[in-house]
Amino acid sequence: MKICRFEPDRVGLVQGDAVYDITQLAREVERQRDPSLPGDPLIAQLEQLRSLIPADLDGLAKLDLGGINLLAPVARPGKIVAAPVNYQEHIQEMQENNVSPGHDIPEIGKAGLFLKAASSLVGPSQGIEIRFPERRTDHELELALVIGKTASEVEWEDALSYVAGYCIGLDITLRGREDRSFRKSIDSYSVLGPWLTTSDELPYPDALDLRLSVNGEERQQALTNQLIFDVRKIIQFASSFYTLHPGDVIYTGTPKGVAPIASGDVIEAQCPQLGLMRVRVRAHESAKARS
Ligand code: MN
Repeated sequence: MKICRFEPDRVGLVQGDAVYDITQLAREVERQRDPSLPGDPLIAQLEQLRSLIPADLDGLAKLDLGGINLLAPVARPGKIVAAPVNYQEHIQEMQENNVSPGHDIPEIGKAGLFLKAASSLVGPSQGIEIRFPERRTDHELELALVIGKTASEVEWEDALSYVAGYCIGLDITLRGREDRSFRKSIDSYSVLGPWLTTSDELPYPDALDLRLSVNGEERQQALTNQLIFDVRKIIQFASSFYTLHPGDVIYTGTPKGVAPIASGDVIEAQCPQLGLMRVRVRAHESAKARS
């Protein structure tokens, strides 16, 4: 399944250029879950949702994909986990360009993972609002995954069974000396989309080709077989420190090619298996007021 969220707080099933409105079914599924349980009630119960979707979709409202405003596929993740320095060539570019604090950039096993504030999450239609235009702000194209069931101390071999699905993630990054979690948690600096491709459609996430362009010029290409810690290893690593809950999002790290973005830019990020999203960049109100 390809599950999207769109304005105003609707849930859709994506098929080609069509979106079938399954909001009522989603609400029904959400009500079946004990609200005291941690995690996103819809992501936790995607199999129940699947069982409610009729084989014949004609009874559902049908919309054009181009005519809706896509939101982040997960409404309220408990946490957004992110991998730093997870592609060798990106580590080299960071060392050569010294855009990250300090020359000595440890590999992921030593650096560990970091958290981005859940309040930074937006969908493609909401766009990125540059908060500090006087400082360098970069795009980071990443494979993102969404956890589907509670995961703790997961073994590498079992890790993919905890994945609800995959998305394209943009880990937007203010460069500077502050802690990563602070610089990368600005409102709108975590883009997720265009929709959630459930893991049954993507049993092997280790050979995905993701691409990012800015204003039509290609800047980044990620091949997920180049990840230092692959999807399984990241889940194993993360869950050895903390429990992952349904709806938690993991950004797996960026390949080389990170570069600045500015107000007016249009980012396109795509992957054959995950879709294409177009994300506009504009100035945050506070930045307009200062300029
Ligand atoms: Mn990143």
